[in-house]
Amino acid sequence: MRRLEGRVAIVTGAASGIGRATAAALAAEGAAVMATDIDVAGGEETHGLVRAAGGHAAFLAHDVTSEEQWIAVVTATVERFGGLDILVNNAGIATGMAVTDMPLEAWNRQLAVNLTGVFLGAKHAIPAIRKTGRGGAIINVSSVAGLEGAAGLAGYCAAKGGVRLFSKALAKECAAARDGIRVNSVHPGIIDTPIWSRIDEGGLGAEAFRASSGANRLSPDLIAAQGAPLGFAGQPEDIARGIVYLASDDSRYVTGSELVIDGGWTA
Ligand code: NAD
Repeated sequence: MRRLEGRVAIVTGAASGIGRATAAALAAEGAAVMATDIDVAGGEETHGLVRAAGGHAAFLAHDVTSEEQWIAVVTATVERFGGLDILVNNAGIATGMAVTDMPLEAWNRQLAVNLTGVFLGAKHAIPAIRKTGRGGAIINVSSVAGLEGAAGLAGYCAAKGGVRLFSKALAKECAAARDGIRVNSVHPGIIDTPIWSRIDEGGLGAEAFRASSGANRLSPDLIAAQGAPLGFAGQPEDIARGIVYLASDDSRYVTGSELVIDGGWTA
């Protein structure tokens, strides 16, 4: 018996990297997966990959900063798959920028996508999960940057640290409601995904991050070789396997916890 047979999951940021691997891993364990992302081409590609592997999935264009779109995504998921059990708040952006150079819009954007998006997802998924009535799991993708500071990534760290404590507070709220919903955060270290080429567009903060991590460019392999005790960058599947654990009944006694998957980075 697969671990998520009969369950329904929403995965945000599923067009790329960790989100794509998570959509595939949840589907491989039997879940029906609503993959969402602002990147429609990438999202359709994920949808195709999951279906080609025999998984049950659909894709919706979705900006996690929009409350209206969250309502539409949750409604469409319940209509399409008959309920909701699992929410993976994975969509995220990293802006490499020194605080003194950071326009207010860049600060606000990082918090909107990385933190407010997580709040909106929980707000609208929880009533649907409660109505489905099987308990459930919310997994919020934070970062090692939600556990410790990184020069040039202050806005990202602020948002990811917020995700960590939001998850713990929500875990207690759900536990008090006896709704069977567990809430946990996941803290990836250096994972080889396209996010690293996107940070590099940020300018000065990216230079500060390069200097503090000792790498001369933002290559995940180089940074991990220098900073992760295991000596190599993780793959998106390394995170997806942790998320499957937190989504499944294997973690039935785990809530309000933080799963660090970082090759020893924070050890
Ligand atoms: P990625 O850039 O490959 O994927 C992120 C996805 O989020 C993209 O498909 C992007 O289109 C989507 N996205 C961005 N803004 C969005 C929005 N407003 N609404 C909906 N979707 C949006 O990056 P990734 O490395 O796979 O990152 C996934 C998560 O893991 C992020 O939350 C990231 O902060 C976190 N993380 C990544 C690493 C790493 O080393 N790769 C480390 C720690 C944490």
